[in-house]
Amino acid sequence: MERQLAAILYADVAGYSRLTGQDEAETHRQLNQGLNLLTEQITAHGGKKVHEAGDAILAEFPAVTAAVEAALRFQQLMGEIQATDADSDQVQFRIGVNLGEVIHDRGDIYGDGVNLAARIQDIAPIGGVCVSGAVFDQLGSGIEFSYDDLGYRDFKNISRPIHVYQIRAKDPYENHPMAAIESRVKGQLMFDDAIERKLVTRGRCACGSIEIEISQESLGTGFCHCKICQRSIGAPVFAWAAFPVDGVKFVGDQPQRHRLSLIAERGFCAKCGSPVLWRSLKPELGTYLAIPTGVLDNPEDYAPTWHGGIESQLPWLQIHDDLPRARCEESPFLRKAWGSMDAADPEKWIALDYAETLEIDDEAKPK
Ligand SMILES: [Zn+2]
Ligand SMILES: [Zn+2]
Repeated sequence: MERQLAAILYADVAGYSRLTGQDEAETHRQLNQGLNLLTEQITAHGGKKVHEAGDAILAEFPAVTAAVEAALRFQQLMGEIQATDADSDQVQFRIGVNLGEVIHDRGDIYGDGVNLAARIQDIAPIGGVCVSGAVFDQLGSGIEFSYDDLGYRDFKNISRPIHVYQIRAKDPYENHPMAAIESRVKGQLMFDDAIERKLVTRGRCACGSIEIEISQESLGTGFCHCKICQRSIGAPVFAWAAFPVDGVKFVGDQPQRHRLSLIAERGFCAKCGSPVLWRSLKPELGTYLAIPTGVLDNPEDYAPTWHGGIESQLPWLQIHDDLPRARCEESPFLRKAWGSMDAADPEKWIALDYAETLEIDDEAKPK
């Protein structure tokens, strides 16, 4: 029997029988969607689907890089579908990729390498991709990825320990300054309102009708040069400090709110007009508030750490620092927020300027 070296991809749905028990029809719909998408990616990357067995797919590829690319691309697409359709997040796949000798027979492939791909799949995180050391060593320079070394693992019916790596698509926004703020927001503890909290800082509007009490540390600071910020505060650049929603209390008058764009609103003093907050409305009510640095009592302690919206930075505004600079379209947060409004194309964000978004939102139209 002739043996051939092949990259073997094995994908399986996590917890399939449990899901089927909960909602058979919906689980089946999502399974079909996933299997079709994976089949497309296998073909698009030069692989061949060998067989489907219930909720699993076995495929072979002539090259390891193509197999890993197909797996990563598939998981990325599944993630995108599930991010936009909350009901679609039940069926999620684990994928294992191995390099090994296979025997072709009866329209199928056989060999230890196939079994090992399935075993590696078992330990992949839900929605993730794991590969054997043999695959990892052969990954070409044409593929960008990050990885975790999961060490040597023993597998049932495999005689020696196998080195396993988890592979992830490289996140192009990994180093974006906003990413740090978002990860801190995610880890933020919810505080019990009854607990007396020491104030971290305070602020107020120009006339003093609104006082701001801030009881949690800042999540991050920045400049925004975007057109919408320029118009809404009437200044060439907006400097802000972000705080968890739970850490900000408005005392006295409450800020009047005005929908600023399809994705955000601002709060201002109804008496004097000072802007006192900015918050995201999409995709869900934001977990943090951006407070204009200028209304804080100690703005000197909240130095901006990066520049956003630099595509609109005014040519005569020279700020000589070496802080990171990013365009709006590079922000993972803005991409997600505008994406939820069906405006995934950054070109559209510029077109959807202040006036146009007011048209869309009648309530916000000036009387
Ligand atoms: Zn005021
Ligand atoms: Zn802005």
